[in-house]
Amino acid sequence: MLAQRTKLFASSGTAAARAAAKAASDAGKEVIDLTAGEIWSDLAPSVREGALAAIERGENRYTDTVGLRELREALAAKVARETGQVWHGEEIAVTNGAKQALFNAAMVLLDPGDEVIIPSPYWTTFPAQVLIAGGRPVHVDTRDHGYVPRAEDIEGAITPKTRAIVVNTPSNPTGVVYDQSTLEQIADLAIRRDLWIIFDECYGAFAHAPHAHHPIVSLVPEARSRTIIINAFSKTLALTGWRIGYLAAPKSVIDAVKALQSHTTSNPNVIAQHAVLEHLRRGDGSYERHLSEQLTQARRLGLDILSRQAIAPLPKAQGGFYFYLDLRELADSGAISTAPRTADDVVNALLAQAGVAGVSGSAFGDPMGLRLSYGIDHDKLALGLERLVGVFDAWT
Ligand code: PLP
Repeated sequence: MLAQRTKLFASSGTAAARAAAKAASDAGKEVIDLTAGEIWSDLAPSVREGALAAIERGENRYTDTVGLRELREALAAKVARETGQVWHGEEIAVTNGAKQALFNAAMVLLDPGDEVIIPSPYWTTFPAQVLIAGGRPVHVDTRDHGYVPRAEDIEGAITPKTRAIVVNTPSNPTGVVYDQSTLEQIADLAIRRDLWIIFDECYGAFAHAPHAHHPIVSLVPEARSRTIIINAFSKTLALTGWRIGYLAAPKSVIDAVKALQSHTTSNPNVIAQHAVLEHLRRGDGSYERHLSEQLTQARRLGLDILSRQAIAPLPKAQGGFYFYLDLRELADSGAISTAPRTADDVVNALLAQAGVAGVSGSAFGDPMGLRLSYGIDHDKLALGLERLVGVFDAWT
């Protein structure tokens, strides 16, 4: 018998989609995998050299639990640049990716039964972690409002048990970038109703013009004492496997996170820490610009192809690297009667008929969404989307 806790979570829906794509590929099918939550790219030279130099120097020991002092200071300088505020190393904890940063936040904020408001569609790990930490996720549906939560809907979901609001911009899975006014309203609400803001900006470096990413504390500095900023290098430096993320928050939060992390994972990998530190010291932004340009081109290419289908409105794709298709019209009788009626069925049909793998919105609390990653090789992306359009055409 396992603990009751194990009933609260299953392996993530995105991992299941990746596994289905791999199984089809292992069975000999040629699969174009648009499920990935990562960018296809080479390493930044500074990261590579920083890692190799750390190995040569024999950096093989534990570091401070929440990261090398120099790295925490370099990250504080980064957050200071991004927010226009003064930040100190003691307000930073380095973690094993953003996922551990979020997990730490849930564990140090939530008492049993505390509620966390999570706009939906949501990245699947947000509610899972809240549940593991003993809390209760409360979802606010954004599908009829361009995937941006309205302050009044958030306020309507607040109860005496509400502890925090999750704000993820640019959003995974929807690809929207929250506008300035929405962020200001959420921050004001959090202040008025005494709530924490968990601000996940993992895709902040990828806002596609004219959309711009705004750190919430730079818009409303009074919200800083109740905000936990979550970020990582997984997406912005294409370093998903290296596991370096961080949280930036009031020192009291960081102290609690440090104690927690000292009993769970200790420090993140020392070589990866040195590699990122080297990048923060030496990087001139050219690698990030290169990734951004690569994504901008992929986005343009993808939108051009997707504009040729009639099943879903053109996705917003304002930030990050996901096309999120709203398939709700499929449920109506507009499509031919043999067309699938749920996103799960669409995903299965795309894999079976065209060898194209995407992630069903059911992984994100939306049975009628479809997420397609465009962080992949452009030729493959074009081929995959052309095939998808072909399958969709047959349904209209
Ligand atoms: N937050 C969001 C919104 C994500 O999409 C992801 C990864 O997909 C993460 C956090 C976790 O990132 P990491 O790989 O740094 O743990």
